[in-house]
Amino acid sequence: MEHRVYNFSAGPAALPLPVLESAQKELLNFGGCGMSVMELSHRSKTFRGIYNAAVEDLRTLMDIPENYRILFLQGGGTLRFSMVPLNLMVQGKADYILSGAWSEKAWEEGRKFGSAQVIASSRDIQFTDLPDLSSLPIREDADYVYICENETIHGTAYAGLPDTKGKPFVSDQSSMFLSKPCKVSDYGLIFAGVQKNVGPAGMAVVIIREDLIRKDPDPAIPTYLRYDVHSRADSMYNTPNCWSIYLCGKVFRYLLDQGGLSAMETRNREKAKFLYDYLDSSRLFHGIAQRSHRSLMNIPFTSGFSLLDSRVIQRCREAGLVELTGHRSLGGLRASLYNAMPLEGVKALVACLESFEKELPQEGISCGS
Ligand code: PMP
Repeated sequence: MEHRVYNFSAGPAALPLPVLESAQKELLNFGGCGMSVMELSHRSKTFRGIYNAAVEDLRTLMDIPENYRILFLQGGGTLRFSMVPLNLMVQGKADYILSGAWSEKAWEEGRKFGSAQVIASSRDIQFTDLPDLSSLPIREDADYVYICENETIHGTAYAGLPDTKGKPFVSDQSSMFLSKPCKVSDYGLIFAGVQKNVGPAGMAVVIIREDLIRKDPDPAIPTYLRYDVHSRADSMYNTPNCWSIYLCGKVFRYLLDQGGLSAMETRNREKAKFLYDYLDSSRLFHGIAQRSHRSLMNIPFTSGFSLLDSRVIQRCREAGLVELTGHRSLGGLRASLYNAMPLEGVKALVACLESFEKELPQEGISCGS
């Protein structure tokens, strides 16, 4: 393949081309130090500079208040599912909102460590929509309320946050991190696996309010799983994922140069609207998630016929539009439109879907329900 494709993968996903080009230029000799970032000691002054710039740029980008710590940790999003209850369940109780496969996984993990109660769920409708959050039965003594704000598989997202009655809000933002402005002070802890909207796989960003970092956690908690340990060591208790920190830092800078998160939101809305408008008018394809809570990032859709879905995926692939196969649990197609996907990519996708649709015999096609 001579040219770069439009990559619609849900993650690892497309990265901004200028970021990759800049990393390519520096690959063999970073900043004149004679080494690649991959060869640098994490304790070196040079790497420390990379790390500090990444932390500062993220703080600026999200306007993160001073009383929040930023951590770059390994174990992706998944390790947060157990690290959160291990560290934050002081009374042994947490309330979970189940809106899809990822919040369900987090809850399954949480219940290993204490009383993890489901306070809202849309499991009964196979997570095609989000549960109603208007009157949540949050327990008086719950240590935190857990939510996944964008469910990557089901393609649903919350537009606003519920009132947690003063309880710390823990949010999995993995598939929408940095896609729009975020008021960090509304949260106790935000985490995101970076391989979707930010950087290469192998790292998670954790933004945690300082008072939630326990100074005297249960000594039975493995050292590596303690937030206080990572916070004291500035994410360098052990060798961190230097390469991911470096590239994420480049993406933070790139986003700042692009106008920050408001600019990202405007673009992301425009891109998602383009595809949703097509899906809503198509006689062949329809979006899988309920309209009221559609994600801007992950858009699952189908013709309702697996054979036609496979054919159109193949057609798209031939046109340089790749990674459109839907998640194995849902089938159909899924287009992930993270920050690095340009509007041109979405237009090319819609053009391909349209031409496929036009070529089919028109009688009998009406799957767009
Ligand atoms: N949360 C969400 C919303 C996700 O989409 C994913 C991965 N697709 C995870 C958590 C798990 O992340 P990781 O693979 O980094 O462990």
